[in-house]
Amino acid sequence: MNIKYVPTICPYCGVGCGMNLVVKDEKVVGVEPWKRHPVNEGKLCPKGNFCYEIIHREDRLTTPLIKENGEFREASWEEAYDLIASKLGAYDPKEIGFFCCARSPNENIYVNQKFARIVVGTQNIDHCARLCHGPTVAGLAASFGSGAMTNSYASFEDADLIFSIGANSLEAHPLVGRKLMRAKMKGAYFIVADPRYTPTAKQADQYIPFKTGTDVALMNAMMNVIISEGLEDKKFIEERTKNYEELKEVVSKYTPEMAEKITQVPAEIIRDIAIKYAKADKAAIVYSLGITEHSHGVDNVMQTANLAMLTGNIGRLGTGVNPLRGQNNVQGACDMGALPTDYPGYRKVADNEVMKDITCSWGCSDFSCEPGLKIPEMIDAAAKGDLKVLYVTGEDPVISDPDTHHVEEALNNLDFFVVQDIFMTDTAQFADVVLPAACWAEQEGTFTNGERRVQLIRKAVDAPGEAKYDWEIFCDLAKKMGADPEMFTYESAQDIFEEVRTVTPQYAGMNRERLERPEALHWPCPSEDHPGTAMMHVEKFAHPDGLGIFMPLEEQGPQETPDEEYPLLLTTTRLLFHYHAAMTRRAHTLDREVPTGYVEINNEDAVELGIVNNEKVKVRSRRGEIEINARVTPDILKGIVNIPMHFRECSANILTNASAIDPKSGMPEYKACAVAITKMGVA
Ligand code: SF4
Repeated sequence: MNIKYVPTICPYCGVGCGMNLVVKDEKVVGVEPWKRHPVNEGKLCPKGNFCYEIIHREDRLTTPLIKENGEFREASWEEAYDLIASKLGAYDPKEIGFFCCARSPNENIYVNQKFARIVVGTQNIDHCARLCHGPTVAGLAASFGSGAMTNSYASFEDADLIFSIGANSLEAHPLVGRKLMRAKMKGAYFIVADPRYTPTAKQADQYIPFKTGTDVALMNAMMNVIISEGLEDKKFIEERTKNYEELKEVVSKYTPEMAEKITQVPAEIIRDIAIKYAKADKAAIVYSLGITEHSHGVDNVMQTANLAMLTGNIGRLGTGVNPLRGQNNVQGACDMGALPTDYPGYRKVADNEVMKDITCSWGCSDFSCEPGLKIPEMIDAAAKGDLKVLYVTGEDPVISDPDTHHVEEALNNLDFFVVQDIFMTDTAQFADVVLPAACWAEQEGTFTNGERRVQLIRKAVDAPGEAKYDWEIFCDLAKKMGADPEMFTYESAQDIFEEVRTVTPQYAGMNRERLERPEALHWPCPSEDHPGTAMMHVEKFAHPDGLGIFMPLEEQGPQETPDEEYPLLLTTTRLLFHYHAAMTRRAHTLDREVPTGYVEINNEDAVELGIVNNEKVKVRSRRGEIEINARVTPDILKGIVNIPMHFRECSANILTNASAIDPKSGMPEYKACAVAITKMGVA
């Protein structure tokens, strides 16, 4: 019997746990946690434990498929390439868009965006960070000069107090949740603010239920208290920040009494948590999509930065502003320039000097300095007929983007649509060409986790059938379309990484030998003798003048609020056993745990509506309606309902609002839209 253990990284969330794939006779038959791995220390959550179940499924895509007369037929790679090349060459580059894959290794994403920019000539390049942590990238970059987590996961264990807002870590980022629990056992005071009494909230020392979408008011009131009590860190403010007086003026209006009316949090509770946060020597903020997925997501993010700077809780162990990133490599996808506004390393598309530098490095001619379209803008443009061709790699917008009917209308309206994936997803059904890709267990490369740790993934088995690496496909297409072969010829993923280092300053000091160690390296790592940066902003912020910027912010609230016709506010969430849909719903152990969706309704609302637990109900919004089982619970505030987003047959995103968009980041408001719930058979 031939058994080997291949160390690699989990393909699901941004925690980035290490694991060994157990390979027997060239098949992955199990997973063993990586005991020496610094993130998960020999533990995995259910998603990680059963991630191998999808690798050898019979429904993996194994050959290119071309749609003819509404049916897919198998095709050769040459035939598929010829068709795609002819279509990509036939349209104005501004009519073509790319969704990159944040599940894929950095090397694939890097070549994807390079292909889109050099060969197709478009800046319409984006990925799913737009729909999860786009506001983090924009908000923390505005406040601190860098749009990433400030500390490492290990740093939580040094905290005296942890303020978690809009993060259900024990379900969505379980191995970070474990670190938070360890911090609590070591004595950290754990405050959780969330509209739902989540499994994480149930572990809190103090739980603060508050009305969805009122984060700015809550944190303004906390800062109001901190300043009125004289608990602000005057030395830090003076030496490390600017714009304090402007902040002070705005927060002075937000007394706890005023914020109570907006947030539903009693004034004395706001006062209490503000004082506790400010008095802690080392206080860490943890947040996730409850902060970002709003039409004012960037404001929410900048509020967390304001709160941390006001109290000097930055640049030390146990402090910081710590967004918990979503997909396994969504941090890397941002770093690699899968963004319409940024080249690799967050160098701005709009800056002519940057463009000259990048084109010089790549050896190509000039690009447009006009930023491209973001994902929601590409969907809107497709629906209007302005975007004609879309190339989606490893994304499933029919499930994951807001307002499913609008997404379907947009995809149906395209002249030509390519999907590159490992399964025939709900989105791939709409495609003209579907290309089979290798999954994470079948390739080498790097993933960058949410704490900026760049980690190697290693090949355990061959890809099925004719499936290829994403980077191979883009290189083949580039050559087919007449690009200079030198720009798109690589021997391996490592070969690509060597190029990534030359155009991504944060990765410049990383090489294979250094990344082989389990602890790998955190960026920024500017040179080969640099140890990497587990904690940012220690002595200065990443802005050119080294100062952090206070951002005075006013409460905006959700764009769509309940009314007589739609009297409830819907929020959407994720579950412990699922990650989006395409992969975990095909992992039979995970799917068996939670086989379908449900709507959580507060007990009192259920009584008023005459609804009992497990009864099938109809949920309607201005976009559409679904039928779904009711879960009656006291664990959600009255007036708010919640639907997990993973389930096509009762999809929350049929209801969500694609028109409520954060103007600063393009984030749609997944966390708040108005709905009505009725018993079945009632109009
Ligand atoms: Fe995978 Fe995230 Fe679970 Fe770790 S916490 S095993 S990275 S899904």
